[in-house]
Amino acid sequence: MNFQRTVKLETPMHKKVRNLQEFLKSYSGKIGLVSHINPDGDAVGSLLGLYLFLKKAGKRVTPYLAEKVPHYLDFLPDVDKIQSKLDATDIDLIILIDATEFSRTGFNAPQTTPIIRIDHHISGRTYSKYDVVIPGAPSTASILLKFARKYDETLISTDIKKCLYTGLLTDTVSFRHSNSFPWAFKDAYYLVSTNLDVTDIASLVYERKKIKTLQLLARVLSTIFIRDQVAIITIGKELLLEYNIDRSETEGFVSYPLSVDEAIVGVSIVEIEEDRWRTSLRGKNKVNLAKVAETFGGGGHFNAAGCTINGKLDEVIDSLIRTIKIHKV
Ligand code: 5GP
Ligand code: MN
Repeated sequence: MNFQRTVKLETPMHKKVRNLQEFLKSYSGKIGLVSHINPDGDAVGSLLGLYLFLKKAGKRVTPYLAEKVPHYLDFLPDVDKIQSKLDATDIDLIILIDATEFSRTGFNAPQTTPIIRIDHHISGRTYSKYDVVIPGAPSTASILLKFARKYDETLISTDIKKCLYTGLLTDTVSFRHSNSFPWAFKDAYYLVSTNLDVTDIASLVYERKKIKTLQLLARVLSTIFIRDQVAIITIGKELLLEYNIDRSETEGFVSYPLSVDEAIVGVSIVEIEEDRWRTSLRGKNKVNLAKVAETFGGGGHFNAAGCTINGKLDEVIDSLIRTIKIHKV
């Protein structure tokens, strides 16, 4: 008899998921779920997916986000249940989702409330023995799908699937960028084969832009430039004001500089206040962008990272390009 074929050895990843699942099954305290500022599809999808799942599992649970959910994600089920004020003394346990550390949530750090981190970023803090941090996961939603299937598959409602699929879809940039393709497509297959309407979700995420956003994009693209294989767009404060557009509406713009043939990195630089620039970096496997972002106090993944840089725009661009050169592989 072939031993290896009949006994499935548990991988460290499955062990982590099982540990968390066993712990939460017997947990009866009040749980608060939090995710990062500038919430994206994986942050909001994972937050609400886990919220709906734990609620179905009979837990006392509340989702929190310090910043407003962007328009393109406002279709997600129970999005109105998200609280914007967090009083940690009201909660027995915090689950930090899709973020490297608690400070990324924009909330005041809790004094004593324990934290469990569920995430797929390369770096970050360890908070407890129940943390599930899997950098090889295509999205945090993918980790949660694994968790939910292990916990009790029958509790995974269509609404929960909708949330988790949104996380997977957006974090893989519509299944175009991922270091973990088999896993990403396996999740997609699982969700699609249970009759989730993924065409409808894609339309809700990508096809509800305001005409003003596209007009702003046209203005921004007219000033795109490339230097040292880095294609850059910049958006000044006054432009957002002129078009009356929230910064979150510019979320997908960075895919345009990345789409330039000669570019190995695409950058979007948005002014948040005078001499303070929110920077999004996207790559083509040629530069470790997580390291670039970390240099400026930010973080992220190899091919998608972000940071906030202070200084005059010219200096910001110079130091960004210098740092990108250092982290070429
Ligand atoms: P985005 O460019 O969409 O804001 O972010 C891309 C990726 O980098 C996301 O996974 C996001 O969570 C991460 N990221 C963006 N900004 C920061 C930051 O300031 N700090 C850390 N640690 N991660 C960031
Ligand atoms: Mn993510």
